Amino acid sequence: MRGSLQTEEIVEFPVDRRGFLRRECAACHRQFKLRRSGADASIVLRRIMKSLPHVNEQEIRAAISQRICPYCAHRADGDEWWTDEQRVFLGRMAAAIGEEVRFEQLRHVERTLGQNPYLTFLPVAPAPFEGASRTESDDMRVMPLVCCGEEVKIRESWTGSIRCPFCGIEHATEPVQPPADPD
Ligand SMILES: [Zn+2]
Ligand SMILES: [Zn+2]
Repeated sequence: MRGSLQTEEIVEFPVDRRGFLRRECAACHRQFKLRRSGADASIVLRRIMKSLPHVNEQEIRAAISQRICPYCAHRADGDEWWTDEQRVFLGRMAAAIGEEVRFEQLRHVERTLGQNPYLTFLPVAPAPFEGASRTESDDMRVMPLVCCGEEVKIRESWTGSIRCPFCGIEHATEPVQPPADPD
């Protein structure tokens, strides 16, 4: 199908050089980063499908586990952590998919009624969707999460303790002190 959106094109948000995806807490609006996982693709798809009419949520429901804000311990589903920029991008993506769906529906009508002399419209193919081209900056510092065998990236300036975004356990962020020099 010409011009169709391919799944692998619509689910990719830019990640930084270490593979981290930017996330934002809806409660405190601070940003952090988690490694992009396979589940993120279905989360993005679910989010887009929710904004389209006539899509059965049961058919697209993905296993969404909760995440916890490392800074303020706010808890929310895995698909509630978008930055403003990501929300805008998702909205544009959903609009493009909606156009694509309408176009295919009209094409179907056109094919079905091909011999109909009263057919008074000509389906117009939507413009190809421009994906995210911005590259993700390599900011923030990596904190290991020994509790879950994961890593989170947090603000450089954050000095308080953090919560593991996966299990909620509290971690101190002070750098590990090097062993004292024997004297
Ligand atoms: Zn927060
Ligand atoms: Zn954990």
